[in-house]
Amino acid sequence: MSTLVWFRDDLRLADNPALRAALNRDEPVVGLYVLDEVSPGIRPLGGAARWWLHHSLASLGAALHERGSTLLLRRGPAAQVVPQAVADAGASAVAWNRRYGAPERAVDAGLKDVLRAGGVDVRSFAGSLLFEPWEVRTGGGTPFRVFTPFWRACRHLPAPRHPLPEPRHVRRPRRSPGTDELANWRLLPGAPDWADGLRERWRPGEPGARARLREFVKEDLAGYDTARDEPAAGATSLLSPRLRWGELSPQQVWHAALAEGGGADRFLTELGWREFAWHTLYAHPDLAAANLQPEFDAFEWPRLRPRLLHAWQQGRTGYPLVDAGMRELWRTGFMHNRVRMAAASFLVKNLRIDWRRGEQWFWDTLVDADAASNPFNWQWVAGSGADAAPYFRVFNPVLQQRRFDAAGRYVQEWAPDSAGIEPIVDLAASRRAALDAYDRMRRNSRPRT
Ligand code: FAD
Repeated sequence: MSTLVWFRDDLRLADNPALRAALNRDEPVVGLYVLDEVSPGIRPLGGAARWWLHHSLASLGAALHERGSTLLLRRGPAAQVVPQAVADAGASAVAWNRRYGAPERAVDAGLKDVLRAGGVDVRSFAGSLLFEPWEVRTGGGTPFRVFTPFWRACRHLPAPRHPLPEPRHVRRPRRSPGTDELANWRLLPGAPDWADGLRERWRPGEPGARARLREFVKEDLAGYDTARDEPAAGATSLLSPRLRWGELSPQQVWHAALAEGGGADRFLTELGWREFAWHTLYAHPDLAAANLQPEFDAFEWPRLRPRLLHAWQQGRTGYPLVDAGMRELWRTGFMHNRVRMAAASFLVKNLRIDWRRGEQWFWDTLVDADAASNPFNWQWVAGSGADAAPYFRVFNPVLQQRRFDAAGRYVQEWAPDSAGIEPIVDLAASRRAALDAYDRMRRNSRPRT
């Protein structure tokens, strides 16, 4: 008999509670990854995410192989593929770490029932968040809508557990079921191959993730608090894709930062924002589609002007900070947080383009594209989110550039020609138009008496 570990958003061997539980059964263990793009409600991955996934799976497969086991790759609806893999592997048990999106939870709950009915021992574990979303509740028993009390409540819960050790050996069963070839999944771009900049910037997979965590806490954590807002400073952790794909657990990051000490508090609070985004998605599964504040449903978006959307996507708005960010995104699959805020605000407020279009573009182009953090932050910037920046706070990309890229290093690196591009909108006039639209929305959504 053997145990199947179904890897999902946890592409690592260290601090993996499902894998640890499987190993504790003292039976051979097989890893499984299912590429499921067809189950109801599952959001297909964007291009940059597919690139990352390919490399991270290759790395996980090699790591399991090195330790004596194997990673099965299967494609299709998980509800069918997982029971088939269990049968093929002759497994008597399945373990996985939980997912928190509604479509994923539905798949997992259904599988639990089916497999258990067939006599398979199924266990699920907490492996992707510091605090389970349902454990953090207001005094009234409801989910939080505001970050500060949410985070305060988290800090009053038992502290995040210490990371589990990495397994040295993973025994494989005698019977080795068939697996797809990773290359046949075509996760990598063909022609044109746009991934040059991604290859230059990133080394996906658990070893690269752990190396970056060590380097960050040793070299950058102490200066994080002061330099984190400057996009040219290289002061942030760059751990978001590692957390997104679970090459690191938040517990590993948490304890590594705490052990280093200085500067950790601010950094830990940022991990708190990731927790809050997932807490919010758990309470509002349609976060990527529906305004959290329903009054925003009455907001009048002008008819889409594709020329403006394309200029934004291509980093040709004539506003250097925005253009630098959008080009960094296109080339590397990443953008600094301060610039994400400025670029998102510019799209929603100065171009008055629905935040959902920006969210979709980020979803397609970010290597850290995250089902919770992406829509959560877009709604935060748009003003429609739960604990959102008020709509009337319009980031001014020129002032933001002066303040956070005073020496112009970031803009020079990514968009040195942008200052020569004629601005596609006037900042003051477009700001005014946005605020007027906001006023109309408020008037229209006020209950009539
Ligand atoms: P650090 O500053 O080193 O922070 C450490 C970790 O804390 C990050 O890796 C991340 O996991 C978490 N974190 C930090 N800030 C936030 C935040 N505002 N919300 C949630 N988690 C946070 N982050 C994603 O991981 N995926 C996304 O798809 C995503 N989309 C975004 C869209 C917009 C419009 C905006 C404004 C922000 C978005 N963010 C997203 C949040 C943030 O920009 C990135 O997490 C951060 O830039 C990643 O860089 P870092 O790892 O160096 O961050």
